[in-house]
Amino acid sequence: MIDLHAHTTASDGSDTPAELVRNAVAAGLHTLAITDHDTTAGWDEAVASVGRLDVAFTLIRGTEFSCVYDDHGVRISLHLLGYLFDPDAEALKAERARLRESRLGRGEAIVEALVAAGYPISWQQVVDIAGGGAVGRPHIGQALLQAGVVDSVTDAFTHLLSSSSPYYVPKLEMPVHRAIELIRQAGGVPVIAHPWARKRGQILDEAALRSLVAPGLLGIEVDHIDHAPADRARLSELAAELGLLSTGSSDYHGTRKSVRLGAETTSPQSLHRLLGVATGLDVVRSEPAAEAV
Ligand code: AMP
Ligand code: FE
Ligand code: FE
Ligand code: ZN
Repeated sequence: MIDLHAHTTASDGSDTPAELVRNAVAAGLHTLAITDHDTTAGWDEAVASVGRLDVAFTLIRGTEFSCVYDDHGVRISLHLLGYLFDPDAEALKAERARLRESRLGRGEAIVEALVAAGYPISWQQVVDIAGGGAVGRPHIGQALLQAGVVDSVTDAFTHLLSSSSPYYVPKLEMPVHRAIELIRQAGGVPVIAHPWARKRGQILDEAALRSLVAPGLLGIEVDHIDHAPADRARLSELAAELGLLSTGSSDYHGTRKSVRLGAETTSPQSLHRLLGVATGLDVVRSEPAAEAV
């Protein structure tokens, strides 16, 4: 099984990178992509863990970039997965730093608004929960959970943290055309993440998705827990029509979301295509000891 989208403590997941690799093996995956928000910070620990495995396993290093599509002045937030790009490519590296940094002031602003409304949490608490990882709303959700305000992080999103909440503050996002170009320049493979996750807010329509092909989009995450069956069918057709590869992934976040590793998967054919176009980095394979003769 192949799962191309998972988070760790380097952003808003709850597994450390080492735990993620261990849990992926336990879930029966043979290929996993680590894709934290706006950072590569979890990569080294994950690579080291794969090196210690005694089963065959392939790790794909990636990042989920916070992006925006400007639709005639209307800003639509979206996520773009980048796989196997060169982490030292300067322009993209600088963008990742900018995106991560902006998450701090923005997270603090959301917390301040919640505190002003009487919710018993603090910015320090959120910083501690994030533990040095790229700060996101799920960390604030965890603080609300600890304070007994909500029963789960998902519950916190329903009213307090959603993009339509009065406490919502937007974060810095990268224009998606530029993100696609920079990932390609760095030898990576850009795949749009959960494009029709409708409950998260406004989504890109078909014309907007088509417009991402010219700058170099290479794939669409079709199978995702937030996609309805009819949307999956249409996205799959669209990917085929546009010559893009289709992926499926869990978007695992450990205990901060209920979805399990391997809940959605990518076909070996799509993985093969993805690996064929990546030039920025190699995959990392475990080297299980040869069987005794
Ligand atoms: P942020 O990056 O701070 O804007 O927060 C977005 C993150 O919140 C996403 O990457 C998801 O991990 C998480 N998220 C978004 N919507 C929900 C939801 N309804 N329930 C739980 N987590 C969510
Ligand atoms: Fe997330
Ligand atoms: Fe996402
Ligand atoms: Zn994600």
